[in-house]
Amino acid sequence: MSLREKALRAYQLEQGRNEQEKAVLHATQTERTAKAFREMFGVEPDGVTIDDVVIEDLRLRAQYDKGEFRCFQLQGDCPTCGKACYSQGVSSLADLGRMLEDFIPTYSHQCPEESPPPSAGDRLVEALRELISEIAFQ
Ligand SMILES: [Zn+2]
Repeated sequence: MSLREKALRAYQLEQGRNEQEKAVLHATQTERTAKAFREMFGVEPDGVTIDDVVIEDLRLRAQYDKGEFRCFQLQGDCPTCGKACYSQGVSSLADLGRMLEDFIPTYSHQCPEESPPPSAGDRLVEALRELISEIAFQ
């Protein structure tokens, strides 16, 4: 076997190992999220994928801080801009109820800024620019 073939073979083996490790990590994280969900809300989730939980028509995301479970965040729509985002941290059943009734976007959510309508001065400058270019190219 040439060096090239050996190197490619070693790379394939390493990739296989990495895939296996990733699958184990995902399964572990999925189980941790499901456990945290059961402990906080006292019900079995419909589905859990790594840190994503689906139950009834709700979707929540588990937040981990340095590997430690911290809280859940509810997925919803920003009441100001209407964009889909996650809520502030939910740490109890009552917290979840509060977010369902009065959704508060996570601190990192920023509503897109609406560009203000052009001022009278800006419109005048634009009109003059058009006039000048019309005159200049006649
Ligand atoms: Zn917003």
